[in-house]
Amino acid sequence: MSDTYQAIANSPMGKALFGAINLPIPVILDRWQPGQASFIKGRVLVGAANGSTGVDTILSTLKGAPEAQLSVLANTSTATELQKKAGKAGVDAENYTATREDDAKFKGLVFDATGIQNPDELKALWEFFHPVIRKLEKCARVVVIGRTPEKQTGVTRVAQRALEGFTRSVGKEIKKGATVQLVYVDEGAEAQLASPLHFFLSPKSAYVSAQIVRVTESGFKAAKFDWNKPLAGKKALVTGGSRGIGAAIAEVLARDGATVTVLDIPPMAEDLSKVAAQIGGDTLELDITAPEAPDAIAAKGKEIGGFDVIVHNAGVTRDKMLGNMPEKFWDMVLDINIASQLRINEKLLGDGAINQGGSIISISSIAGIAGNLGQTNYGASKAAVIGMIDAFKDEYAEKGITINAVAPGFIETQMTAAIPFTIREAGRRMNAMSQGGQPVDVAETIAFFASPASQGLTGNVVRVCGQMLLGA
Ligand code: NAD
Repeated sequence: MSDTYQAIANSPMGKALFGAINLPIPVILDRWQPGQASFIKGRVLVGAANGSTGVDTILSTLKGAPEAQLSVLANTSTATELQKKAGKAGVDAENYTATREDDAKFKGLVFDATGIQNPDELKALWEFFHPVIRKLEKCARVVVIGRTPEKQTGVTRVAQRALEGFTRSVGKEIKKGATVQLVYVDEGAEAQLASPLHFFLSPKSAYVSAQIVRVTESGFKAAKFDWNKPLAGKKALVTGGSRGIGAAIAEVLARDGATVTVLDIPPMAEDLSKVAAQIGGDTLELDITAPEAPDAIAAKGKEIGGFDVIVHNAGVTRDKMLGNMPEKFWDMVLDINIASQLRINEKLLGDGAINQGGSIISISSIAGIAGNLGQTNYGASKAAVIGMIDAFKDEYAEKGITINAVAPGFIETQMTAAIPFTIREAGRRMNAMSQGGQPVDVAETIAFFASPASQGLTGNVVRVCGQMLLGA
């Protein structure tokens, strides 16, 4: 769907006019294009608080990204140590002395705050970011690494929790399509930081901002894989795959090497076949709420040697104010958006139709976090998706299976094109990027969770919402 406002605002005349009357000019976001490296291209400045432990993984990740030139901020207490580590890791790191006046520009800022143990030490954030935060290029990436607060005690827990408010505030300041994320890592799980660093320092995370993910050590070790084709040899199922976000997910998973089965209701058979033909996948024509659906999906899984990735994307809205809502609207939305997923998961797990090292990813929504007028049924179902992630993460982890949710904000699809104009315009602009996201933005986030590199990520909810003003 097109965003006319964004197109006009970015035309030469529009820029001058909109700028003069202080209207937001939504930046055209850099998104990954075929043939492009998966990392951002440009200077990445790395810093760390004293005693931080994520630096080795940051350096080894950047070493695999020749398009990112590494700089170390010279005027901080940990600069010498960082330089030494970079040398050991075989990464060329330029020493950069910041002044507010110099004209340096950065495409990325990465700060390891895992060593921060009390509120006084939070000053390290100011020392690192203050001189450089205005030196970000368009669509730059900022990543802060912290220590999972729930696993800390006393003042360390207090200080680590502060990182949330810090990163979310930075997200509202940086503009120009830049993003910021916070990754909390458990002690001993630092090697698992590679996957979130790859994703959050990439054009693939264009519409993801101010998100917090938690990384743990996984008992399951993934076999070797290629970062450019992480899903090679894997089998994926995408429900609701005939159009919109589902079709984009199927395309991105296939791009990453997976063989994809797309599922949709029988009336969508024609569109479904088109998607399958485009990506060399196959189809399942099925209503996920039908009594035979879990058996049919499990049978398909077993026939192909087990699924490695399950994406619960199929979803519907049936909006009405609660007082006017017919019972059938309530029942339908709850059954499609959550109850059927629980039945399918139970059957797939019970039948061994999901392989060890596999991942389940379900689509929630901003409405499940912030609530929405006329969407009590939808909001309940999408909050229940978050409940499902939380309820099953430990049980599935024992089987080497991760479960995560992606919560889109306003995404340009047929679903949102049907919203009345004024409400649609408000939805589009009410985020730090002043624009809606694209289906591919959701799809890239699903692919991030589906990657074998993401074994350390389970029980997470990532919003793809350009840092929407609603909800946390
Ligand atoms: P869409 O309506 O374009 O696509 C949904 C697909 O699910 C359709 O192809 C539909 O036929 C299929 N489906 C519906 N009921 C089914 C059933 N019982 N069995 C099998 N398939 C079924 O919607 P979309 O915008 O692409 O949304 C995809 C997902 O993202 C949904 O879960 C939606 O709730 C969620 N979401 C979308 C947005 C957005 O802005 N578009 C925002 C938040 C969440």
